[in-house]
Amino acid sequence: MKTAKELKNELFYTKKSVYELTDEANVKAAFDYAVDYKKYLDNAKTEREAVNTSIEIAKQAGFKPYVLGQSVKTGDKLYYNNRGKSLFLFTIGSENIEEGIRISAAHIDSPRLDFKPCPVYEDSRMCFFKTHYYGGIKKYQWTAIPLAIHGVVTLVDGTNVNITIGEDENDPIFYINDILPHLGQNQAKKSLGEAIEGEQLNLFAGSRPYSTEDEGEQIKLNVLALLNEKYGINETDFISAELCAVPADKAKDIGLDRAAVGSYGHDDRVCAYPALTSVIDNADSKHTLMCVLADKEEIGSEGASGMQCDIFSDLIDEISKSLGGDPAIVRANSKCLSADVSAAYDPNFKDAFEKRNTPELSCGVVLIKYTGSRGKSSTNDASSEYIAWLRSVMQKDNVVWQTGELGRIDLGGGGTVAKYIANLNIDTVDLGVPVISMHAPYELISKVDLYETYKAFSAFCKY
Ligand code: MN
Ligand code: MN
Repeated sequence: MKTAKELKNELFYTKKSVYELTDEANVKAAFDYAVDYKKYLDNAKTEREAVNTSIEIAKQAGFKPYVLGQSVKTGDKLYYNNRGKSLFLFTIGSENIEEGIRISAAHIDSPRLDFKPCPVYEDSRMCFFKTHYYGGIKKYQWTAIPLAIHGVVTLVDGTNVNITIGEDENDPIFYINDILPHLGQNQAKKSLGEAIEGEQLNLFAGSRPYSTEDEGEQIKLNVLALLNEKYGINETDFISAELCAVPADKAKDIGLDRAAVGSYGHDDRVCAYPALTSVIDNADSKHTLMCVLADKEEIGSEGASGMQCDIFSDLIDEISKSLGGDPAIVRANSKCLSADVSAAYDPNFKDAFEKRNTPELSCGVVLIKYTGSRGKSSTNDASSEYIAWLRSVMQKDNVVWQTGELGRIDLGGGGTVAKYIANLNIDTVDLGVPVISMHAPYELISKVDLYETYKAFSAFCKY
């Protein structure tokens, strides 16, 4: 008869951390992998910057630009830049295209404060830029922290003026005022969601007048004069601009052991980076691979750069036809990892989670069968067959993985790009990194979870 301990080992699903399940070399590889990831974070704070940074990395690995209609052949390593805001990288494998494409899809937009079309105004000897928040933020978290401006202004002649202010050591930064606690009694009585209103998220942009002439709005004038001097833009040009405020901090190690990384925008660069690097590193796979870096996930994957845009299926059609395959068969046999973050269990907010079904920090990549809210509303619910297949693939490379849901059932929920891909008749499941303080200006992830995610995507490309 087996001892209870033996039988437990055989029958129980016991969650263990990456540190317990792998060796020193694996942990070192994880810490090394995080070095370049932190550089990626600092260079890719907006979707446009993520596209440019990803293209630079891909080009160094021999990837070439692709244009719609171009014929492709085995061994090709290509990328399609969609309007500078979303990116598709693909490698053409040796097997028949009708065996399907291995697709890793992450998003490269993050919650932030977009500029309104008419943002500049002066009030009480201060000049501000009015913002309109993008994605799900806790508004109170964005006051009284260092902010940078990133984005582009497109002039009438078509020139794109790139603007980044607040990232260089010598740059000024921007700021959103908050009320002092001494006078904050009324604010303190409000709910957190109401304590700061959308119309209070105004960026402090200047306080010195252009001149002492009796003209009015001299501080606004000075701010516009400085912008005009450096970038050649005027107030009307803000209407054809995509500027936003993002946290000015850089990615940094968190904790004395340096095992975690703090940064703005882990959601979802922490999945975009492993999706990108795994496709680059496995470009010689017999499978045809595709990495999708989508925009607009945080606001519903809408529009020409979002996952719902037809360009995704158009590209599958084009590749299939060029290789003599039937696109419907290619889609039916394709497989996708929807690469997105999940909420890590946080002992400081125990009430928000059901511990048995919540991913934990340092326990590896998270496989999420379904997202959605309440009664699984609006989710892609991956099939047991597909998940079992994925388990077998991850097993081959000893990937440490775990599973879970996004918090307690009735508390809320969330979605990813998974359903838009699955709707095209492609088996899809969510896989990604657990995050602490998701959607905060500064989020936290574990280096070993990041690396197991890279290993999972690599195994998916390989086997
Ligand atoms: Mn996400
Ligand atoms: Mn998100």
